[in-house]
Amino acid sequence: AERPYIVGNWKMNGTRAMLSEARAIDRAAQRYMKVEVAVAPPYTLIHAVHKEAEQIGVGAQDCHAGPEGAHTGDINAPMVADAGAKFVILGHSERRQDHAETNECINAKIESAIDAGLRVILCCGETLETRDAGKAEEFVLGQLKAALPKFEDPAERLTVAYEPIWAIGTGRTATADDIAAMHGAIRQLLVDTYGEEASAMVRILYGGSVKPENAREILATPEVGGALVGGASLSAESFLGIVVGAS
Ligand code: 13P
Repeated sequence: AERPYIVGNWKMNGTRAMLSEARAIDRAAQRYMKVEVAVAPPYTLIHAVHKEAEQIGVGAQDCHAGPEGAHTGDINAPMVADAGAKFVILGHSERRQDHAETNECINAKIESAIDAGLRVILCCGETLETRDAGKAEEFVLGQLKAALPKFEDPAERLTVAYEPIWAIGTGRTATADDIAAMHGAIRQLLVDTYGEEASAMVRILYGGSVKPENAREILATPEVGGALVGGASLSAESFLGIVVGAS
């Protein structure tokens, strides 16, 4: 199987002062070669983190789906690739909420990112209301069915991240049973979509209040191929605690 994949999503955090954390993460990651480590800083830091990074992967948190043109304030996939990004996080619940991103819009972004040679981390996840209504699985699979790229074999470039919205930044994590059930359902959808062999290369990450204290248990859960980490990725010490939990 692929190495566990631990990705830090810095969200709207970080000025150049954070470059020392990136450097510390990178140097320490060289001791954990069995774990694939990456960070997604804000656009403003992608190039600087890329220049610091010898070991870790660097990515973006979003991109526009279209070609260059008159879109003030937007950044497209070839631009983040040019800055040094190797992957892009797409469909994060904060993008869906703050910017009204639809599954169709996310699908277009994925196709543009893959065309630009980027790898994609596609996020999905339900609200607490949807979970309490017993519709979490149906909702998440619906998000994925509508957003997954239609390429013959994008599997090499694709990672899925399951992030229940009620577990993001709340200190609340899903139980191992809930995670295993959802990841199992996502795995089956990937097999149905891309076939057994191609889909086997797609890792399914868990995200939502992953910390050094809970990382080992979460990462040992069936079908969990890594973690997408928000708050705990902002300090090298706590992020590396999660990397250790994956090793
Ligand atoms: P937290 O780790 O802060 O809960 O954030 C999770 C997340 O949204 C990562 O993309």
